[in-house]
Amino acid sequence: MSNNQPLPASVQHLIVGAGFAGLCAAIKLQEDGETDFLVVEKGSDVGGTWRDNTYPGAACDVPSQLYSFSFAPNPDWTSSYSPQPEIQAYIKKVAERSNVLDRFVFDTAAEEAAWDEKTAQWVVRTSGGTVRARTLIVGAGGLSEPKLPEIEGIGDFRGELFHSARWNHDIDLTGKRVAVIGTGASSIQIVPELQKVAGHVDVYQRTAPYVVPRNDRTYTRVERALFRRLPALQKAYRTGIYWGKELLVPGFTVNPKLALPAKKLALANLKRGISDPELRRRVTPTFEIGCKRILISNSYYPALASDNVDLVTDPIAKITGDAVVTADGVERPIDILVVATGFYTTELPIAEKVRGRNGASLADTWREAGMAAYKGTTVHGFPNLFMIVGPNTGLGHSSMVFIIESQVQYIRDAIRTMGLNRYETVEPTAEAQQGWNASLQRRMQRTVWNTGGCSSWYLDAHGKNTVLWPRTTFNFRRSLSEFDIAAYDVQAPDTTANPTREEVTA
Ligand code: NAP
Repeated sequence: MSNNQPLPASVQHLIVGAGFAGLCAAIKLQEDGETDFLVVEKGSDVGGTWRDNTYPGAACDVPSQLYSFSFAPNPDWTSSYSPQPEIQAYIKKVAERSNVLDRFVFDTAAEEAAWDEKTAQWVVRTSGGTVRARTLIVGAGGLSEPKLPEIEGIGDFRGELFHSARWNHDIDLTGKRVAVIGTGASSIQIVPELQKVAGHVDVYQRTAPYVVPRNDRTYTRVERALFRRLPALQKAYRTGIYWGKELLVPGFTVNPKLALPAKKLALANLKRGISDPELRRRVTPTFEIGCKRILISNSYYPALASDNVDLVTDPIAKITGDAVVTADGVERPIDILVVATGFYTTELPIAEKVRGRNGASLADTWREAGMAAYKGTTVHGFPNLFMIVGPNTGLGHSSMVFIIESQVQYIRDAIRTMGLNRYETVEPTAEAQQGWNASLQRRMQRTVWNTGGCSSWYLDAHGKNTVLWPRTTFNFRRSLSEFDIAAYDVQAPDTTANPTREEVTA
């Protein structure tokens, strides 16, 4: 639908977000013959995080063969780890080929969604008008809202300042003095690119990450031709990558000793990239590998060792109009400040905007004990709400697209079940949700994310990991393979009974 047409007053299903998650949901709803749905997207294009993160060096650290839809293989990936423009082009191509784009409304932000008990509908206020919907599918992303550091004086900086996810391409970096705050997945891709063009780069490190080599490889023309002609071959290749990644899971979730080979690899990468013993010491991590995301790069350490780059490990005390000042009193003048300080992950901004049955928002509901959902997808007190990439669905080792497809499969089955049985609402019971999370958090206790001696964006203010999935991804997929109606309270126009799945399918 065109953006200057008014939004319809109501639809059956409203999807928020047009990244991998929202697009997947739209394609699959259409495939199921659903005709009455709409996707609202605050940006002006599909792509989500891959539309927004355009910083120099942006690329995916999960192999593209796996970091893509299983139903839309791409034989044309140019290399094992694709750069951002290629991933964004892929997402656009899939959207265009699927003929769903007429359901998308861009430049339209979901501002508030409130459950209306009387009509059993979501009332969603957007920047383009209000839409009522029977089901609300939220694919707003876990890494969508940039987090700026709270540093004294940052507002006084008179040079150019931008977050890694909001790169200002109008700024010429050539010969400039640049500071980068943060040494996470984004920073280690940015720093080597900055090193090539900037006059001087200061990298402000709070915690040293583990960085393993990036075994990138350009696909030959013959390989690409084979992938195109023999889809089964490409599928087998993807499957091989998938299982290779799954083998890493026990090292994260059962016994960190199993991750020792990865630690050796990272320390050898460090030794190869940096010869100065003092610099080596300062970038050597002090926690268990896997506790924070393991980063991949061949160029980060050599960039740090370059003459025009300084690693600064003294804490930042303040920022002035034209410099960063560290706690030891040293002032380092700069022209440009890049903050690569991550995203709001445990307090999802969308949670403030979604209000359930009793008027409380998801954020209110989660304030005391942290984010929690049933199977990372549905939430007690929020009928007919389906979250994609909800609480405890994140991964430290493999492709989020796999998780997204698993959740969309579950949501499709929920919608099918509702249609077949003429249910107006489905809502997970408090017991089902508690049981799911109790078991999940029990498993979480022994994971490296909890025991590895680091702080990370996986943990909320209470130290609880509400972001990651603590098992294998095939386990996740199996758990969500069919909509388990027995875990839900349902409301149907013609019955007050709460039938079990057996009764439903009998
Ligand atoms: P991040 O991993 O959260 O890293 C943020 C960095 O900023 C950390 O080094 C952190 O230090 C530092 N920091 C935060 N606040 C600070 C402050 N006030 N003062 C000084 N330092 C501060 O963020 P990110 O690098 O943007 O990556 C986020 C996630 O995005 C990744 O983990 C990954 O899932 C995804 N990502 C993926 C790719 C990919 O290739 N697929 C690329 C980029 C990002 P501490 O470690 O001490 O907290």
